[in-house]
This record gives sequence, C-alpha cells and structure tokens, in this order.
Amino acid sequence: MNLILFGPPAAGKGTQAKRLMQTRNMVQLSTGDMLRAAIASGSELGRRVEGVMQRGELVTDEIVIALIEDRLTESEAAGGAIFDGFPRTVAQAEALDVMLKGRGAAIDLVVRLKVNDEALTRRIAGRFAESGRPDDNPESFRVRLDAYNAQTAPLIPYYTDAGKLVEIDGMGSIDEVAAGIDRALSAN
Ligand code: AMP
Repeated sequence: MNLILFGPPAAGKGTQAKRLMQTRNMVQLSTGDMLRAAIASGSELGRRVEGVMQRGELVTDEIVIALIEDRLTESEAAGGAIFDGFPRTVAQAEALDVMLKGRGAAIDLVVRLKVNDEALTRRIAGRFAESGRPDDNPESFRVRLDAYNAQTAPLIPYYTDAGKLVEIDGMGSIDEVAAGIDRALSAN
C-alpha cells in the first residue's frame, strides 16, 4: 500500500502518519523531516536548504525527489509508504509515478485532509511558541500557505482524474480524523 497524506501545512498529516506507522507497519516518508535532519547534521544539503525552508518557500523538485528515491527500498520492505509532505508540485507527482512504476508499484490512495485557511491559521497560532520550528511564525506560515495554494493544490485535480483522491474532514479531533482515514483505507 502506497498512501499519500495530502493537505495544507498544519493539517495534521505528520500526526496521522505516525499513527499509521504503528498500526499498519508502514514507513513515513516525510521530506520535511528529511530536510530538517539534513540541516541538523550540518551537511552541505542542509546548508543549501536552510534559508529557503526558514522563509517557508519550497525547495527544488530535484532535491526532494532524490530524497524520496533513496528511501523507497525501505518502504517496500515494510508494509508500504506513507508520503507526508511529498509530492508538493505536479512535477514531483509525475516523478513519483515514474519511480514507482519502475518498481512495479503505484500510488494506491491519496487521502486529502480538508482544513480551511482560517482554521489553519487559528490552529497554528498555538504552535508558534512551542514548536521550535523556525518556519512556524506568522510570516513564514503565510508563505507556506501561499505555496500550498499556488503549487500544491493543483495536485487535487491530478489525483482526482487518476481516481485516487478521497477527501476527509480534517477539522475534527485527532481520533475522528484517524477514523476517517481508516475507513478510506479499508474501502480501498
Ligand atoms: P513540512 O515539514 O512538510 O511542513 O515541510 C517543511 C518545509 O520543508 C517546507 O515548507 C519546504 O520548505 C520544505 N519541503 C518539505 N517537503 C517539500 C517538498 N515535497 N517540496 C518542496 N519543499 C519541501
């Protein structure tokens, strides 16, 4: 099973991915986590992406596609991949389709967590102080939301046309959203 958890920043993708890792033995492939690890390690890649991430802009497609490609073998050995924060552009989605096809696999399901901008901004306001993430501040969050709306939202028709998109109300509690995801997975 290869699943994409799709939605705007702060929609709850990471929280739900972590739960699915435990309940379904799948591997969470979060490009945001991989990039933050690169920055923490002080690698050349980390130095290259640090400023871009801090501002809330997207890093280049080449960088994130390569990070994902490196991790596909690991997810195949487990119960599949949960793509979290990837793909974020149509070019990334196309590259992912090609990479999976080359391995005799495909995206099985895209679960879109629907949360409106106003609720996201309210929700994130509480996180700014405690998260410690340099891109969790009102200015960078606005840029992240704009990047989602301009560059990532076009993936909604991409996956709808492919017959793979299921929408879940992401405004409920963590448990309610989890139940919605479980229903979508068992219907697949
Ligand atoms: P996230 O943890 O998914 O919210 O990602 C944090 C930041 O990492 C984003 O705001 C981008 O700067 C960068 N990033 C993560 N994933 C991607 C991606 N698939 N494409 C481009 N930039 C990404």
